[in-house]
Amino acid sequence: MLRLITDFDGPIIDVSERYYRVYQFCLEKIQRPDQVVQQLSKAEFWQMKRSRIPEKQIALNSGLDAAQAQEFAQLRRQTVHTEPYFDYDSLLPGAVDALLKIQQAGIDLAVMTMRRVWELDYAFKKHDLDRFFPESRCYCLSNDYVKTRDIEDKPLLMAKALAELPPAADTWMVGDTEADITAAKKHGIKVMAVESGIRDRAQLELYHPDLIVKDLSSAVDLILEPSSTVSL
Ligand SMILES: [Mg+2]
Repeated sequence: MLRLITDFDGPIIDVSERYYRVYQFCLEKIQRPDQVVQQLSKAEFWQMKRSRIPEKQIALNSGLDAAQAQEFAQLRRQTVHTEPYFDYDSLLPGAVDALLKIQQAGIDLAVMTMRRVWELDYAFKKHDLDRFFPESRCYCLSNDYVKTRDIEDKPLLMAKALAELPPAADTWMVGDTEADITAAKKHGIKVMAVESGIRDRAQLELYHPDLIVKDLSSAVDLILEPSSTVSL
């Protein structure tokens, strides 16, 4: 059996609008009434996220002072995973077609995400994605999981998946961050990084994925291409 394990946010879902709305909300909340701030454009903001500029630095770049930047980062953390904001997430172009292709090719498909159960279910329902991922192929965090850092939590999820899933002849992981690359490499799984998510190419290169591709469609095409040197 051949298997593809895909991350959720980055290869399938575009979170940029949610993250930007939360940024705007936090900036608005924390600025003093008389204070002049410089709200970043969405493009500027997202490029900073993609080049992994810390939240506090984003706050400073927006005109907040050091104490406010601390507050900003805290408020942002408390807000970004709350219900009203998940509604701003959208499907990435071509993602559903890519999932259909994988399904039609008979490749075993699993999702591995740092979303909590309810956060994943919310998106599954909204975008009709549960048809691709039966419960036994969903690796996410329990609703009460205490997160540490993605780069530490994701390899734990990968260990759980590898212990539980039926053995596969060959496995690829697809993801958009250092956490995905690290989780795969720690467990000897081949990994393709996509540029459609929250890290730019330069950031992805630092973690040496096997390949860097534009998006999930490109990843799937490479896997399915019969003449491909990328054997699954
Ligand atoms: Mg991701």
